[in-house]
Amino acid sequence: MTTTAPDDIDLDALRERYARERDRRLRPDGTRQYRRTAEGSGDGVTDPHTPRREREPVTGSVQALVIGTGFGGLLTASFLRSRGIEELRVMDEAGDVGGTWYWNRYPGVRCDIESYVYMPLLEETGYMPSERYAPGEEIRRHAVRIAEQHDLYRDALFHTRATSLTWDEDEAEWIVETDRGDRFRARYVVTSSGTLSQPKLPAIPGIEDFTGHIFHTSRWDYDYTGGTAEGGMTGLAGKRVGVVGTGATGLQVIPHLAEDAGELVVFQRTPSTVDVRDNRPTDPAWAGDLEPGWQRRRMENFLRVLAGEQVDQSLVTDGWTRTTSLQRSMISGAVDETLTPEERARRDELDDAVTMERLRARVTEVVEDPATAAALQPWYRYMCKRPGFSDYYLQAFNRENVTLVDTADHGGITAMTETGVVVGQEEFALDCLIFATGFEAGVSGVVSGTLPVIGRGGRPLLEAWARGPRTLHGFSSHGFPNLFQLGTVQNANSVNFVHILQEQAEHIAAIVGRAETAGARWVEPSPRAEEDWARTIAETSRDESAFLAACTPGYYNGEGTRTSSAGGYAPGPVAFHELLRTWRAGGMSEVLVLSEEDVRERTDLPSAAMTGASA
Ligand code: NDP
Repeated sequence: MTTTAPDDIDLDALRERYARERDRRLRPDGTRQYRRTAEGSGDGVTDPHTPRREREPVTGSVQALVIGTGFGGLLTASFLRSRGIEELRVMDEAGDVGGTWYWNRYPGVRCDIESYVYMPLLEETGYMPSERYAPGEEIRRHAVRIAEQHDLYRDALFHTRATSLTWDEDEAEWIVETDRGDRFRARYVVTSSGTLSQPKLPAIPGIEDFTGHIFHTSRWDYDYTGGTAEGGMTGLAGKRVGVVGTGATGLQVIPHLAEDAGELVVFQRTPSTVDVRDNRPTDPAWAGDLEPGWQRRRMENFLRVLAGEQVDQSLVTDGWTRTTSLQRSMISGAVDETLTPEERARRDELDDAVTMERLRARVTEVVEDPATAAALQPWYRYMCKRPGFSDYYLQAFNRENVTLVDTADHGGITAMTETGVVVGQEEFALDCLIFATGFEAGVSGVVSGTLPVIGRGGRPLLEAWARGPRTLHGFSSHGFPNLFQLGTVQNANSVNFVHILQEQAEHIAAIVGRAETAGARWVEPSPRAEEDWARTIAETSRDESAFLAACTPGYYNGEGTRTSSAGGYAPGPVAFHELLRTWRAGGMSEVLVLSEEDVRERTDLPSAAMTGASA
């Protein structure tokens, strides 16, 4: 494969080219260009996988409720059960467990992180993935396996959305209400409701007029297409199919559509980077030689490598481990302190340029038609978009039945009519249009307000967070006892997000376990602890504004509107996990409310001046 030497790169010219491409893509409406989809809205987002069953509303009480049954929720519930929490209920809007793997069953869906470090509890469940990058259905079944092994189906509520959480001070319990008329109590509530779960569609004029078939990739309609996630979509034979979107999902689904559709029109706005995937079946000899504790060691090793920490040997060598220093511009971690920030920035920019030149060259090597190849070349810095990997995607554009339509000059699709899609002045007649247009980023119901949380004294969480999140380590907030959140708020992140969720789940379960054995009245950080944590986040943060501002628009930079990072812990996940372990070893007394004095300290509502509340 072609490589370019750093000395041959003209950084000024490259910056100029990147700026031109960004400006071509910027839209004045930013994130408002999308509309939220809603269940039952008839626009292809209703659950196609499980019929909704009527049931009687649930009352009574449980020790713990976990909202969300993706890997984050399942791991938390499993660890809570292991710590003796028997009356445990999990709840999800979906018809079964699995989270993103429940919803996303489109043809070609696969893990894009190595399965041996992505799929949790492999040793505990005695399961070995069939391939290095396992198919989505196998990952979904693994979620079911975890739920069964920990008896999480016993009291589960599916197709159920929590509509409010209200703290009852007298009973020290949460009152939970749902869209199925349930009203029950839970001593502890944990929310793990997804960072990329709400599908989004572009607000395209005329979308309602289209009389052909339409759906989002996360609600795949196999009744229409036929086939399975392995392909074989006989329903698309002879049909003119359009697909909007060429992100991580588009890369996986487009080769299958190309194979099965009569004609496929790919509407691209920004091309993804497409590096080598190199998937392969799991070698039984390798799997048989693994020593106990191997998965934890491999996960930790992968995390350390990606976070820029020293390791003797990188156990996972793939497209992610080859680009670790480039990831630092978007994902927290250790940086090379032997260089000045300016030296570091220049070195990173050159490394970035070498990688991007290699990936642009890969396009021209694979795609035969020069105009199509030129349109498929990405012109931005590596981490402006989620990096992509595929050994089939670029090849699909060499097929006679596949057409690439570049919509970048028009900011995307211009309009839809009864019969098709309009880009600029040109109309493309279609029988079916599939949206691979992604998800709302980082929005859990607690943060967006769709799940109102009313804490002590009737105070809404969003009021307490009016000037931004206030948490201890990202998990819990003063005034909202026994409530924990998983996710990306005020903590550390990594590409292998399930590993991050596992650490979060262990942490939360450890706190709940400690509170139960200590006989605590409840668990709650003090305002001082929250302030200290906010200060730590601010003091350690890095300035990513120049990088984000120069990036082509996407969900990483709020469609070009956001120039500050999400406020995570900049030293990175390895340092963060160490910090949490040390904190736990200290007895967790900071959050345990045991005595009358603790109660007095925690129930004094913080002053309006401190929280930014107007009343
Ligand atoms: P993305 O948000 O990454 O991509 C959406 C795509 O739709 C982009 O190509 C976008 O173009 C395009 N688009 C949006 N609006 C329009 C429009 N009006 N006209 C034309 N094109 C439009 O969503 P994905 O579902 O691909 O991926 C979301 C995330 O899910 C990934 O980043 C990854 O984190 C995760 N994922 C993980 C997988 C895994 O294997 N683990 C697999 C799939 C997804 P533009 O770039 O110009 O905005």
